[in-house]
Amino acid sequence: MSYIAVKGTHDIYGDEADGYSYIQTVFKAIAELYGYRGIETPVLEYTNLFERSTGESSDVVRKEMYTFLDKGERSVTLRPEGTAGVIRSIVEHKLYATSDMPLKVYYTGPVFRYERPQLGRYRQFLQAGVECVGEDSPYLDAECICLAMQTFSMLGFKNLKLKVNTLGDADTRKKYRAALQEFFATRIDDMCEDCKQRLKLNPMRILDCKVKEDQERVKDAPKMKDYLSPEAEERFYKTLSIINDMGIEYEIDDNLVRGLDYYGHIVFEVHALSDTGKDYGALAGGGHYDGMISTLGGPADYDAGVGFGMGVERVYSMMKDNGLLNDVAHKLDIYLMPIGESVMDECYELLENIRLIGYSAIMPFKVAKLGSMFKKAERSGAKFALIIGDEELEKGVAQLKNLATKEQKEVHLATLDEELDAAFDEIEEHGDDCDCPHCQEKKN
Ligand code: AMP
Repeated sequence: MSYIAVKGTHDIYGDEADGYSYIQTVFKAIAELYGYRGIETPVLEYTNLFERSTGESSDVVRKEMYTFLDKGERSVTLRPEGTAGVIRSIVEHKLYATSDMPLKVYYTGPVFRYERPQLGRYRQFLQAGVECVGEDSPYLDAECICLAMQTFSMLGFKNLKLKVNTLGDADTRKKYRAALQEFFATRIDDMCEDCKQRLKLNPMRILDCKVKEDQERVKDAPKMKDYLSPEAEERFYKTLSIINDMGIEYEIDDNLVRGLDYYGHIVFEVHALSDTGKDYGALAGGGHYDGMISTLGGPADYDAGVGFGMGVERVYSMMKDNGLLNDVAHKLDIYLMPIGESVMDECYELLENIRLIGYSAIMPFKVAKLGSMFKKAERSGAKFALIIGDEELEKGVAQLKNLATKEQKEVHLATLDEELDAAFDEIEEHGDDCDCPHCQEKKN
């Protein structure tokens, strides 16, 4: 009998774990720069939340939810996206009554979708996202897009593609839906089963169909931009001009409709090209939404919102392909080497002290040969080895060896904190690509 991870899920460890944590740290720091605060909502929600807010016509709700009855016969669902739970929480705790508007929150956590696993597509994946609700302004929509782009640029991405579209206002969407229904009525018999359903529930979804033959048929379909009300059109171009003034380039994609039901006005996706030519799909997607707060029982005054969700798996894969994670893996600072059983107790005490000073450190707890300790130290990625035997202990010193340059010097245990600070300052100053004469000479 062997035990394996559930299909479509994956374990995250080693360099990958360091990469994921780096991506989330950068994302949180940027969100905080924009005035967002953290929120954590449960992974498990009552099923009707997603049916009501994410939308009964969305593929995510119709086909991809992990829904089951709990032991109390209540239908619960593992969240398939982040927005619904956040809005539920805002309404349940009446956060609009105690916070200034707009209310800005960010989250990270796993989401679950029963999709066919493939490149960049998992059944459990990690999303980092933001929601900004309670106030309606094209500036807030633009700001949310800037936040997404800023996150990617801080992560080191260069070739980003921002795709945008508008889904207009309610009046626009009503007219556009009717136009699509008329257009597809004579074509739908030859289209996929999903599109047949979409035509009844939400014909805009057909534009997003991934079936090749259907994509051909979609090309001649009416375009949303020809149905925009003057107000919706003005709103779209105002948002675009704010983004433009921020120096962000975009491309209008008429077929971008996004997967969830509650979007209106601007919607967007961020794509990037991998140096290895792989296409992991959109790195992040989001847009403006209306009506979610009142749909879940809150006051309609706070109904406007904007947000996005970013897929951490895809961002990680893309960063790895593009060599953006080289300095991210966690490296140990010090590998402490006790020479013989007699110095074990003192070394253990020293190990804890080194950690208290703030340097990461490990040591072997079984006596080992120096050669084998050096091999382990190198595999651990430690920057320095600190070697202590009876003789050193007697003199109150240790040998500090830089594992990259192999330079070794004696340090005093009584002033170890200062000696370590100086040694680490020096390697910061003379990093891998330092071209000072001393480092050049060592390289030669
Ligand atoms: P969505 O809510 O569908 O717009 O998804 C937001 C982001 O989550 C996407 O832009 C992707 O980066 C990521 N994502 C969506 N579905 C998956 C999946 N099945 N596996 C991994 N990442 C995903």
